[in-house]
Amino acid sequence: MIKPGATIGIVGGGQLGRMLALAAAQLGYKCHIYAPDEAPPAAEVSALFTRGAWDDEDKLARFGASVDIATYEFENIAAGPLAALAAEAPLLPPRRSLEIAQDRLEEKGFVAGLGGRPARYAQVDDREGLDAALAEIGAPVVLKTRRFGYDGKGQARIRTLGDADEAWAAIRGAPAVLEAFVDFEAEFSILLCRTQSGETVTWPVPRNHHEGGILACSELPAGPAVAALAGEAEALARKVADALDHVGMLTLEYVATADGPLFNEMAPRVHNSGHWTIEGAVTSQFENHVRAICGLPLGSTRMTGSAVEMRNLIGGDVHDWQAILSDPSAHLHLYGKSEVRQGRKMGHVTRVKR
Ligand code: AMP
Repeated sequence: MIKPGATIGIVGGGQLGRMLALAAAQLGYKCHIYAPDEAPPAAEVSALFTRGAWDDEDKLARFGASVDIATYEFENIAAGPLAALAAEAPLLPPRRSLEIAQDRLEEKGFVAGLGGRPARYAQVDDREGLDAALAEIGAPVVLKTRRFGYDGKGQARIRTLGDADEAWAAIRGAPAVLEAFVDFEAEFSILLCRTQSGETVTWPVPRNHHEGGILACSELPAGPAVAALAGEAEALARKVADALDHVGMLTLEYVATADGPLFNEMAPRVHNSGHWTIEGAVTSQFENHVRAICGLPLGSTRMTGSAVEMRNLIGGDVHDWQAILSDPSAHLHLYGKSEVRQGRKMGHVTRVKR
């Protein structure tokens, strides 16, 4: 057990790290952030900050030596540098969870091997491979880079076969997967937390709405289309967590279709679709992640009200902060990012109906 008073290292300095650090502070832990940026949002609320590149093995090893336990809120870090860190401090969730989840092809194969169903897909390694995959799956499809994609980045729609060149140029010829475009009723996610002894908890399931590939809002209850599929999706998430011997938060994203839940992707970490848990659940995803990696018992995931809505403040939406505060029931979260950019997550607002 890593007791309160110890130092938790967090690889990644974004808003997820910031909210993890705030939850850790509430439990009496100190946080040490590792990130390449000059003033990352997580470092502002943490005791210690090391500025270093994702591939700087020496710095990551020194960072590891300075903490009691390490975790991550960012998954695009290579296995080698992480091994240097893991040699100095326990790293949870385990590296294997990260390695599987950071590669769309690996994660689809892994989840399918456990009985999950992704949309039809094919591996694409080069331009000829794209033609072969298109011949196999047909349009419409989505071409996605295997690695380094987030918030709709590294993706290109192919509506007709004539769009192939443009899509290939858009992803810059990176190793990719081609996915059938799915006609879905709703999107949802399973938020799961697993302890070192294999106990798992899940939260009530949010329905997620994306705009331009970016999460716009999550709402609970999720409605009948999602409720009918939540049990099956949750059972698969448990299997995935057990197979990885995962510790901490694991999020699986799904779409609800007439044929059941289709698995989209997973994240071995706290997730934007779980931000509602800060005020909308008895214990937040951030707190339970800290509890799980430190070997503490998990808290209740029950909702605190009858309904919740979490809305992201993206780009210029953040300028509405005063209007949001004029609603006394709104919980405003600002991430402290000084530069407003289009598509950048600047904060979020949660409303709980009691
Ligand atoms: P992803 O980065 O894979 O989570 O994709 C971002 C969003 O794009 C998803 O949440 C969906 O709204 C949409 N999307 C991704 N893949 C597909 C697909 N195969 N069919 C339909 N919509 C998709």
